[in-house]
Amino acid sequence: MKAMILEKIISSIEEEPGPLHMVELPVPDFGPKQILVKISACGICHTELDEIEGRILPKLPVIPGHQIVGKVADRGKDAKNFNIGDRVGIGWIYSSCGKCFQCRRGNENLCEEFQSTGCDADGGYAEYTVVSEDFAYPIPERLTASQAAPLLCAGAVGYRALKLSGIGDGQTIGIYGFGASAHIVIQVVKYKFPDCRVFVFTRSKEHRDLAKKLGADWVGVPGDIPPGKHNCAIDFTPVGITVREALRNSEKGGRVVVNVIRKATPVPELDYTRDLWHEKELKSVANITRKDIEEFLSLAADIPIVPEVQEFKLEQANEALLLLKQGKIKGAGVLKMQD
Ligand SMILES: [Zn+2]
Ligand SMILES: [Zn+2]
Repeated sequence: MKAMILEKIISSIEEEPGPLHMVELPVPDFGPKQILVKISACGICHTELDEIEGRILPKLPVIPGHQIVGKVADRGKDAKNFNIGDRVGIGWIYSSCGKCFQCRRGNENLCEEFQSTGCDADGGYAEYTVVSEDFAYPIPERLTASQAAPLLCAGAVGYRALKLSGIGDGQTIGIYGFGASAHIVIQVVKYKFPDCRVFVFTRSKEHRDLAKKLGADWVGVPGDIPPGKHNCAIDFTPVGITVREALRNSEKGGRVVVNVIRKATPVPELDYTRDLWHEKELKSVANITRKDIEEFLSLAADIPIVPEVQEFKLEQANEALLLLKQGKIKGAGVLKMQD
């Protein structure tokens, strides 16, 4: 099979173009509980840039990619969940131990043995991949493979953040930053909590316009004073200062959820009385559980959420990642292997 592999970490994709190499590999073997998936499409994600440039350390060599949609091509003798030909999705969670305290309470995203697709295990920048059938999901019929792929990461993680925010109908939610994940989250909020008010803070004029179009009740730039306090907030920005702003804009007892792996700038010093007093809470989001992905896929099909995608061929992965880094992809970038 053809695959794009990463063999070594580089300093930056602009300075060292073409970090992934096209190789010919044998179709991978599968265990008794695993399925072999013939990949139709794989979304591209900022996490791949983090791996290539060494901010997250993958196994090496690695086939990146964790937003995979494909068809079951074969299965192990104990794999019974899917039939040959069924369409399945695979997300960031490749496996977890299933036995520890975190796994037993449903927080498999926090398992010490958490393995990630396209980082700890080979992923979707290839013609085939292998996964345990317990970590694959049926794909709703109304979505094409390319449309479903981006939902497996940006959408599903945003959905987890929304659940963690503790939002209830009739409340006000603040959204800081308005990229791939946030523009899906607002559609979920408007569908599930129609009486919620949504405040969106983003520096980009284009993103403010999109937020309005998607139903934001107020839009502004970070630092603006919104027309009221929010009960909960999700921070999607790469900078630290919005964490403090979101706390300051919070109602008593309000919660702020930070949906970023790492901030490019530090969170500024907090003033206890002004920023945290009155039972305000600050929480982060890490990884994802199978339940988040399953719930979100079915919700996305109901709403429906149909992402705008720009398709590339597998061999164009380097080019697509460079465009992603430069912010030049319209909607979500997807590598399309076959129909
Ligand atoms: Zn991702
Ligand atoms: Zn575990």
